[in-house]
Amino acid sequence: MVTKVIVVCVLAVLLCGQYTEGVNIISKAQWGGRAPTYRVALGNYLNYAIIHHTAGAYCETFAACSQQMRNVQSYHMDSLGWPDIGYNFLIGGDGNVYEGRGWNSMGAHAAEWNSWSIGISFMGNYNYDTLEPNMISAAKELLQDAVNRGQLSSGYVLYGHRQVSATECPGTHIWNEIRSWTHWSA
Ligand SMILES: [Zn+2]
Repeated sequence: MVTKVIVVCVLAVLLCGQYTEGVNIISKAQWGGRAPTYRVALGNYLNYAIIHHTAGAYCETFAACSQQMRNVQSYHMDSLGWPDIGYNFLIGGDGNVYEGRGWNSMGAHAAEWNSWSIGISFMGNYNYDTLEPNMISAAKELLQDAVNRGQLSSGYVLYGHRQVSATECPGTHIWNEIRSWTHWSA
């Protein structure tokens, strides 16, 4: 009887832990973002995740990263005329994940690939800026969360933006980092 109870508890922790915890995401409301002018649905079990950098300012605190999120969103909406910030999620130098278009909304981050992928961008210019360990673990947790919730297929392929478009994005330092990640493919 005691053994059964222990087994049930262990299973509950494993199963529930896997599906309820997930990575902590700073919502649009929390960073002071604007609602999209329109949104296009993005399907589940996508086969690609594409990594970017914003090529803009690096930020190290919640306040600075929230300001940077608002700057990037304003640039994408007001200058480029997009319905929302381009990426699905962004990661700050504070190690937080920030909600962009979020789950199940098609992004504008990699021409021809937007409907087949989610786009994750690190705030900063990684030809010069460097990734901290907490930023790398945040990205990996976000990707695992995407698989757990069915947004990405379990066998998804991870690319740097430069692999699908003529761009130096995501910058040298990110490019050197992601090539060691499990799902990265040449
Ligand atoms: Zn990019």
